[in-house]
Amino acid sequence: MALETPNHTQTVAGWAAYDSSGKIAPYIFKRRENGANDVTIQVMYCGICHTDLHHVKDDWGITMYPVVPGHEITGVITKVGSNVKNFKLGDRVGVGCLAASCLECEFCKNSQENYCDQIQFTYNGIFWDGSITYGGYSDMLVADHRYVVHVPDNLPMDAAAPLLCAGITVFSPMKDCQLLESPGKKVGIVGLGGLGHVAVKMAKAFGHQVTVISTSPSKENEAKQRLGADYFLVSTDAKQMQRGKRTLDVILDTVSAKHSLGPILELLKVNGTLVVVGAPDRPIELPSFPLIFGKRAIKGSMTGGMKETQEMMDVCGKHNITCDIELIKPDKINQALDRLARNDVRYRFVIDIAGTSKL
Ligand code: NAP
Ligand code: ZN
Repeated sequence: MALETPNHTQTVAGWAAYDSSGKIAPYIFKRRENGANDVTIQVMYCGICHTDLHHVKDDWGITMYPVVPGHEITGVITKVGSNVKNFKLGDRVGVGCLAASCLECEFCKNSQENYCDQIQFTYNGIFWDGSITYGGYSDMLVADHRYVVHVPDNLPMDAAAPLLCAGITVFSPMKDCQLLESPGKKVGIVGLGGLGHVAVKMAKAFGHQVTVISTSPSKENEAKQRLGADYFLVSTDAKQMQRGKRTLDVILDTVSAKHSLGPILELLKVNGTLVVVGAPDRPIELPSFPLIFGKRAIKGSMTGGMKETQEMMDVCGKHNITCDIELIKPDKINQALDRLARNDVRYRFVIDIAGTSKL
């Protein structure tokens, strides 16, 4: 249970799910006053990540209701704490998944706060003061400045918002697999959703040959023509999957539902690496034969550290990478969540929280 938090005096209007029906309704709540290490942000846009859907439906059994989702946040700074030197009033900023970490462990000290074992998230987390964190489906956010990044001037705030989670979640493993500095690799992206579509754009910008592995034949043209993918494999078509065997160096699996890794592993060359970032509620199947016959490796990756998140934003600024979005008003969040659950979005819903866009 959250502690009493007397300095939570600021009234905020937001949207929350109250139970595992996942239905979102308006929610008025309190946020802390702006502390010495904090910045206050007027939220402009917030992306709808599939993780939000997992949370509102309590897929993972960890949701504390009412939950105010949202960790793909862009906005403008309206207050700056006395210890904050790197942000000023009016700055265009972003907040992703992280709200707090211990700041002392080896991971925090090496800019890998995302692997701190006391990590707390932007929503459905417990902040240092014991309060439950509420996310970006709300008009104002108080954030510790160490978990805030600058948004490059050339990126629009709406289409940049999903970079704060989808973007960093695929950038971090790409960097880890040396895909930033060594072009010409053969990269596979499984699942062409919010994470997947930005992964395709990044992998192309970094000079790789990209294969999309998808359950949706209807996405093939867009994948190639709009997003720049070189090849498209329909994962339910055994012949296509057979032709793709042993062709890829690295694969990122962004799939949100239970599936088998066996056919995906077969697509890797000997010694290839599969990075799982999708987080289905039930265990994915891992047959051992495709693993051992190809000496393949599987690893996971969870969002990214803050230094890396700023680097990702700057790289996106440099390459002009943004997300393909469907902008909605807050009163359409429930329809958007329903469509996301049906895999019916190209490729990310973004909520116009501040109501500044023409819709
Ligand atoms: P999304 O937009 O819904 O995309 C997921 C894609 O997976 C879909 O577009 C679909 O692509 C594919 N898919 C859906 N159901 C499938 C099924 N039954 N079998 C095979 N493929 C299926 O979701 P997202 O926002 O990109 O998030 C994807 C997952 O990553 C979620 O589980 C989310 O919680 C997780 N996530 C993890 C991290 C992390 O730090 N590791 C961060 C953010 C999100 P096709 O139509 O192309 O098949
Ligand atoms: Zn997310």
